[in-house]
Amino acid sequence: MNRLPKKGCPLCGGPRRRGTTTFTCDLGFGVVVVRKVPASVCVQCGADWIPDKMAERIEVLVGEARNKRSQVEVMALS
Ligand SMILES: [Zn+2]
Repeated sequence: MNRLPKKGCPLCGGPRRRGTTTFTCDLGFGVVVVRKVPASVCVQCGADWIPDKMAERIEVLVGEARNKRSQVEVMALS
């Protein structure tokens, strides 16, 4: 997960637009997948940035999955 730069893609300089991305997190005993995360996506190289507000929501979901000790937890935002 990367921090949102002010403008443009820092990797390739391409334009970014709003889109969605899939966040995955390996907890060791299991994997958490969060789909349809609103993000800023580079049109050229596909790199994505998840806004802080969404990252906080994801953290909560990951925390719940960790507590349940799920082997595979697939969720979707939005
Ligand atoms: Zn790019």
